[in-house]
Amino acid sequence: MRFATFSRGGGTPEVGAVWPSEGLIRPLRDGPLAFSGDMSSLAESYDDFSVDLISRGPAQKLSDVRLLAPILTPRRNVFCVGKNYKEHAKEFNQSGFDASATEIPEVPIIFTKSSGSVIGPGAEISSHSELTQSLDYEAELGVVIGRGGRAISREAALSRVWGYTVINDVTARDLQRRHQQWFIGKSLDTFCPMGPWIVTADEIEPQRLDISCKVNDEVRQHASTGDMIFDVATLIEVISKGITLKAGDIIATGTPAGVGAGFKPPRFLKPADVVSITIEKIGTLTNRVA
Ligand code: MG
Repeated sequence: MRFATFSRGGGTPEVGAVWPSEGLIRPLRDGPLAFSGDMSSLAESYDDFSVDLISRGPAQKLSDVRLLAPILTPRRNVFCVGKNYKEHAKEFNQSGFDASATEIPEVPIIFTKSSGSVIGPGAEISSHSELTQSLDYEAELGVVIGRGGRAISREAALSRVWGYTVINDVTARDLQRRHQQWFIGKSLDTFCPMGPWIVTADEIEPQRLDISCKVNDEVRQHASTGDMIFDVATLIEVISKGITLKAGDIIATGTPAGVGAGFKPPRFLKPADVVSITIEKIGTLTNRVA
């Protein structure tokens, strides 16, 4: 199943099940479940719901609604993973923007992006040109937690994932370097495009997905999620050792090689550039730089 957050006629955000090939969305509020919660509550209670009931709700044309970020207002910051693809770790280490010590990490580098930086598909990324001259894109597989918990083993980890989405870990490289801790450079308003929807975990093998990023019509990043240094299960095990993961928590799992900072000379984003990230079996997330 695919679930999106959307609004009808600019109204209150709500959650619906999406059938992209048919161009349809079934608002859960209108269906037999009469579900009116947000996406995090859906992730929390999904095991109790019948997919059959969801599929029987009345449908609307997908083209008649506006898709928003699937998790519009995350309850907590977005967990993120730095340098989780070997070729990217090398390009970033050699870019001059890496303030961390080692080229290839021996344990996952975990940081967060502000929950307030999230925007949806089609929304504009602010260029923040008064603050940064090195606006960059990062295509990433986003993991959404369902049944959370602490000390989740690697073996049990994937059963705690509710679904997967596409994330652009937009970064101001100069701020990332200047502040050493990555939080500011990764958290400016609009720096976390997410969407277009969440695909439930039963449809996804997280380490077997083609992932690519285009800037305008040029492919800049293209890899397989199988190239991650630390796979999704390991990331969940590591993060949950002493931090309780909760339903609706999001993990952005790192980006492959081909970011703007990796080119010589660097190729950063400019106003009016369009960034499109596609992950196999999930979909395409497109955002324009304002
Ligand atoms: Mg990243």
